[in-house]
Amino acid sequence: MAEIRIENLKYRYPHTKKLALDGITCKIKQGEFIGVIGRNGSGKSTFCQALTGLVPNFYRGAYGGKIFIDNIKVDTVGVEEICQKVGLVFQNPFNQVTGAKLTVYEEIAFGLENLGIPRDEMIRRVDEAMELLDIAKYKDRHPFDLSGGQMQRMAIASIIAMQPEVIILDEPTSQLDPQGSEEVFQAVQKLSKKGITIIMVEHKIEKIAAYSDRVILLDEGKLIDMDTPQKIFSKENLHEYGVEAPIFTKICKGLGIRNNKTLCYPVTLEEAKEVLAK
Ligand code: ADP
Ligand code: MG
Repeated sequence: MAEIRIENLKYRYPHTKKLALDGITCKIKQGEFIGVIGRNGSGKSTFCQALTGLVPNFYRGAYGGKIFIDNIKVDTVGVEEICQKVGLVFQNPFNQVTGAKLTVYEEIAFGLENLGIPRDEMIRRVDEAMELLDIAKYKDRHPFDLSGGQMQRMAIASIIAMQPEVIILDEPTSQLDPQGSEEVFQAVQKLSKKGITIIMVEHKIEKIAAYSDRVILLDEGKLIDMDTPQKIFSKENLHEYGVEAPIFTKICKGLGIRNNKTLCYPVTLEEAKEVLAK
């Protein structure tokens, strides 16, 4: 199971002057749910691409530092090798559907067919992935005949069937309604509890606060801070990075309600209630 180590990662896209990633150093534990936040252009998507090796192997440009996923140094191995360990989920579930398959079941099996996985193993993996993402009931539906949340869960199931150790999600709920977003967050949390390392870029700050074990705050390609949601969202100068605290944090701050031990403000309603009950 995968642990990630990043040492002084720097990256510049071809024909640009500014570093898109500027000296990022951090460690991510196996099974952690990491939320990534920061204003537009702060480097979140580039960070995701670096974790898959697409930066620099596909995008080229100037690259420095190291990313290890377990003992694999990401930029030195083929993208195929990384793909076995790391799954990438994009914003728009529509763009992730192959369009070649007539049912949800076949869609999820597609990647495995391409790998030449034996039939019994394939059936077992597809069933397990559908179960985990709670979409077994739609297995005979046409992939485009799903809601946004269901389609995104199908896309994640296709990745889960490949048995990755890390899943990276770049704004996976930005095209979804509140219910679809909640479905995706709950499904992803379940995967993290199973030991899969999760790195999720999101603007839905309330959800990031509720679901992340730790949050990475990026600005101008730099890692400004990496800590618990409580610590990150209690930062006094958060707005300087184009990020707002969750509504509960703002209310608690306004009312002076904070956790006496950590001195942080609550980030969810449940936490606010707990602090108030003491
Ligand atoms: P975010 O996902 O946080 O909005 P990005 O990682 O997309 O930020 O962008 C980080 C920086 O890299 C920005 O300055 C952006 O303009 C630049 N950038 C992103 N993609 C490319 C690209 N393909 N070529 C050149 N510059 C890029
Ligand atoms: Mg982005």
